[in-house]
Amino acid sequence: MTGKVFLVGSGPGGTGLLTQRAAEIIDAAEVIFYDQLPGEEILSSLPKKAEKIDCGKFGGRHILEQHEIEAQMVDRAKKGKNIVRLKGGDPFLFGRGGEEIETLRAAGIEVEMVPGVTSALAVPASVGIPVTHRKYASQVTILTGHEDPTKPEPALDWKLLAQGRGTIVILMGVANLKNIARALIANGKSGETPVAIIERGLRRDRRVTTGPLTTIGDIAAQAGVKPPAVIVIGDVVWLYDPRQPDLIPYEGA
Ligand code: SAH
Repeated sequence: MTGKVFLVGSGPGGTGLLTQRAAEIIDAAEVIFYDQLPGEEILSSLPKKAEKIDCGKFGGRHILEQHEIEAQMVDRAKKGKNIVRLKGGDPFLFGRGGEEIETLRAAGIEVEMVPGVTSALAVPASVGIPVTHRKYASQVTILTGHEDPTKPEPALDWKLLAQGRGTIVILMGVANLKNIARALIANGKSGETPVAIIERGLRRDRRVTTGPLTTIGDIAAQAGVKPPAVIVIGDVVWLYDPRQPDLIPYEGA
């Protein structure tokens, strides 16, 4: 009997935002492939009896290459194991979940998916920033900041992004923030557009840095902003009030 792979989203951190379905499936797992993004609280609560494989792809430091992760999942599944592939947030939003499903299906392995609460929405929400608001934004675009806008054929349409009126949410954008801000301004976005960067959202030591698009790159560099962080660009950022308590309080110890 071939095993089954469950592609599971952990949510953005903290066991409280892990879905009930995810918790049940994790409890029954024989093998768990994880990386650091789910956060310490979830990782330390993984069942003792399961074999745990650290794929360690945190901050660009690869312990297991993507193809190795996929090959190991196929191997364990062929041995009849019940496998969880645990991903931070939602597995299908910049989580390479799509690629893994392609490989697993091609190998004839059954896959089931458990969506997760994505950091793209929950991290801004946690500090009181709704990504849409009737007064400020009727659309939202979520993009990866991993793509360098200065390369010859950028993967993203910066002109369209700069001219859109909605909110822009950027994951994996810290390293490219200056280039991103420059590309948006060069394509017509106002330099006054407010930006918020939320580092380590929903963790005890979360931090919010704000500033206008023109100078946010320097402000972030000066503050020493580091990944993981969610960047929000747009008028909804005006709703952030540092004097207010978090909308999603930190729930850990
Ligand atoms: N699939 C994930 C995203 C994976 S990409 C999801 O749906 O949330 C990894 C990026 O997600 C990080 O670089 C960062 O931009 C963002 N991220 C994930 N968890 C975060 C957190 N707790 N705080 C801030 N950013 C986070």
